[in-house]
Amino acid sequence: AKLNARGSLRFFSPEMSRRARQRLALEADLRRALDEDELELHYQPQVDLASGRIVGLEALVRWNRPEHGLVAPDAFIPFAEENGMIVRIGAWVLRKACMQFRHWLDEGLGPQRIAVNISAIELSRGTLMRAVDEALEHSGIDSSQLELEITETFVIADREQSFRSIDALKAVGARFSIDDFGTGYSSLAYLQQLAADKLKVDMSFVRDITTNAGNASIVKAIVAVGHSLGLEIVAEGVETQEQALALRALGCDAIQGYLVSRPLPAAAMGEFLANYESL
Ligand code: C2E
Ligand code: CA
Ligand code: CA
Ligand code: CA
Repeated sequence: AKLNARGSLRFFSPEMSRRARQRLALEADLRRALDEDELELHYQPQVDLASGRIVGLEALVRWNRPEHGLVAPDAFIPFAEENGMIVRIGAWVLRKACMQFRHWLDEGLGPQRIAVNISAIELSRGTLMRAVDEALEHSGIDSSQLELEITETFVIADREQSFRSIDALKAVGARFSIDDFGTGYSSLAYLQQLAADKLKVDMSFVRDITTNAGNASIVKAIVAVGHSLGLEIVAEGVETQEQALALRALGCDAIQGYLVSRPLPAAAMGEFLANYESL
């Protein structure tokens, strides 16, 4: 190709076609990933600050992509949301997480709850209810043991359908947790309308909680509002003892983060649960 007067050659630069090819390959590979069983879940505990006990586990997806190694969710979930594949991935995650949780319960290791991340796209499709139903039925766990983590941005997709999905799921007893709280733009009115059970304080507020008075004030305010609405407050991304102490002083109910454990594959988490005593 030749460069024309308007410079449109840039459109076909080697860089662009390389990226386009990568995208196509990603799409084809991701389609195969589900069939070939290449997705896997890692689990991270949530610990109650008063008792020191593990109260829940969050399932986090990874993709064991051939020739790429373990791929983090941020590298393929947004893409799966764009092309709709998230619906199948989400259903797989729900089923797998509930089955694994069931297994731990049977071994006498199970904490109270299993938490699963739900994309805004899934909520807006109206297919989530069936996926949850199937996961619960297949695993035999109770709906009250399943916690669905949604971010504040869910309202952007399709508000009506999203609230319909949420209401239907709440009606069968599933719990909701608002993820990354404090980073989005949900109003306090949404908080009330949602009637979630839990708020997860975003890790950006936790990072320098011991040195940044502003962040400490924000967490304190979130705790006050959350508690007044009857919500449980969990801080994410807690890496140090100092952060945990500061968060407890600010009134947080529970923590999740590397201080307790990194997210671990199922077998390693099973061992962790079997050996865990207290924080
Ligand atoms: P998230 O739900 O906010 O998950 C927390 C992320 O923080 C996880 O990253 C976790 O590994 C990481 N993390 C946990 N503790 C610490 C800590 O102490 N320090 C630091 N620096 N990081 C910590 P991960 O696993 O890479 O997941 C990234 C995001 O991908 C998740 O953010 C979630 O939004 C999304 N995601 C993960 N699994 C799924 C899934 O099954 N479905 C959907 N729709 N999204 C998922
Ligand atoms: Ca989450
Ligand atoms: Ca989060
Ligand atoms: Ca997130």
